[in-house]
Amino acid sequence: MNLPMRPAFVALGANLADPVIQVRAALEALAELSGSRLLRASSLYRSAPVGIRGQPDFINAVAAVETSCGPQEFLAALFDVEARFGRRRDFHHAPRTLDLDLLLFDDLVIDSTRLTLPHPRMHLRAFVIVPLLEIAPQCQIPGRGQAEAWLPAVSMQPIARLVGQPA
Ligand code: AMP
Repeated sequence: MNLPMRPAFVALGANLADPVIQVRAALEALAELSGSRLLRASSLYRSAPVGIRGQPDFINAVAAVETSCGPQEFLAALFDVEARFGRRRDFHHAPRTLDLDLLLFDDLVIDSTRLTLPHPRMHLRAFVIVPLLEIAPQCQIPGRGQAEAWLPAVSMQPIARLVGQPA
């Protein structure tokens, strides 16, 4: 029996240990998740860390996937990938080998202890909105309207597309 596939968007970020390599490898790991398919990956971007000074810049990307998993199961699969990449969770905003956030899952709105959808801060982060619009210019954020409408709100946050670094 073919399970229905549902679209989802994942944000990737890394700022330790060769972050370009980490993000590229994480995209490959997303492509290999069972029951899921990687549909599109944005370019890689460099962004300044939010919330804490003195950390290395982040490398970010956004991926569009489709999956037969439910949202909680898919989030658990993302946590598995993070764990495989040796993510550290020393403190809030700590540097990280790999951070994966589930931005959107179909048009679901969820507010549970483990999972909030849409991701609650996605519309306020240039490192999410800019790569998301690259691969899904018409993207709608449930409850917040067109993703594109949030560009002015994040326009002061420095972000640069890495040239010659196809994902
Ligand atoms: P962070 O350390 O910022 O990556 O946050 C991870 C924590 O946020 C975990 O406890 C998750 O269960 C929770 N969380 C809630 N909603 C989401 C989401 N949409 N994507 C990723 N983590 C989430």
